Amino acid sequence: MEQSARILVIDDELGMREGCRRALTPLGHHVEVAADGEEGLQKALAAPYDLVLLDVRMPKIGGMEVLEKILAHDPDAVCIIITGYASIDLAIEAIKRGAYNFLSKPFDTDTLILAVNQGLEKRRLSMESRRLREVEAQAAELARAKAELERLDRMKSEFMLTVAHELRAPVTAIQGYLQIIADGYVSADKQRPMLLRAAERSSELLTLIDELLQLARIKGSAEVKMQEVDLAEVLEQTASLLRVEAERRGVNVELQIAARPRLRANHDHMRQLWTNLLSNAIKYTPAGGSVRASLEVREGTIVGSVQDTGIGIAPDEVPRIFDEFYRTEAAKAMAARGTGLGLAIVKRIVETYGGTIRVESQVGAGSTFTFALPQAQPATETEGTRGSGGTGGTEGASDTAVAPPAP
Ligand code: ADP
Repeated sequence: MEQSARILVIDDELGMREGCRRALTPLGHHVEVAADGEEGLQKALAAPYDLVLLDVRMPKIGGMEVLEKILAHDPDAVCIIITGYASIDLAIEAIKRGAYNFLSKPFDTDTLILAVNQGLEKRRLSMESRRLREVEAQAAELARAKAELERLDRMKSEFMLTVAHELRAPVTAIQGYLQIIADGYVSADKQRPMLLRAAERSSELLTLIDELLQLARIKGSAEVKMQEVDLAEVLEQTASLLRVEAERRGVNVELQIAARPRLRANHDHMRQLWTNLLSNAIKYTPAGGSVRASLEVREGTIVGSVQDTGIGIAPDEVPRIFDEFYRTEAAKAMAARGTGLGLAIVKRIVETYGGTIRVESQVGAGSTFTFALPQAQPATETEGTRGSGGTGGTEGASDTAVAPPAP
């Protein structure tokens, strides 16, 4: 072995310790000695040694115990047992328990150097194979991360294509209307309805752009504009804004507020959450039907749900409705307007706050969307906001803080 190694000699015989030191130091090795098992173990556990020469018969802690502890600490440790002729059985036992080799006393310098060199070669190979295993594990991890990045990149490209396609459609229509008017193909009395149609498509385009912006902003803006939000108040405000539309459609809207939990959140997110769920329920429920939104706290979890007696969603379509731009055929037939982004926004918001959302639905009978959010701790840093308007018995019952949005 050309390279210098760290070697520890644990032996209660001074002659043996010093003999080993004298034989190995000139070869460039750094040799340390210990006079008993306790001292030896202390040294071996404090700093790694390339090789340990270990007497099996020692007072206090015996060599066998020292061996086991060294190997438990460093499974690649190379230990060579030093044994008298009378304790050869012990040496064999030590090899069974993981010692690399043994030397029977008395032995000469050449025998010692040969055994040490073989031991150090074994150590080098073990370390090399350990390093290779680590490199392999890192390579596997890198390959996995690369595959994941590629998958995300593909998803992003597909998303960009869909966005471009969705944006293009209304612009093409508007351009068409304007072009034929500009070319003088439309008589004066037919221009107005055409311009109104163009204005309608442009407002659809704006809605689409606004929702795309909402979707893109959710994560980043959560951190910036966190405040204490009264979820029941947001629900009441949203419902009152949507009531006019619901009445126009002959749909009854009812609220069941069992608790008024406060949550540290971005107020816009909570408004978008209720708005999207409630407006969908109203939009996809035929006249005469009803929508019921409820809010409660169950064991530290805020549970909100919006139930309707509307058109429902077929079981095979349920898994897709949270995808961007996905709209069921039944929904398209019922409401021509729709971006297919509302539920994607809802899902992203809920997940940003560490929550979940699920849907139960039956075609022709109705749907129930239920979200669960970990309840915010009543914020101590926001003075004077606690207790305003709280009627729910469970408010403040939990000390589970809402998960801060992941960056
Ligand atoms: P949009 O309402 O603009 O189409 P959403 O992302 O809000 O987009 O919803 C996606 C689809 O999920 C809808 O097109 C519809 O097919 C279905 N959906 C959502 N809410 C309901 C509901 N309450 N009842 C029936 N179908 C629904």
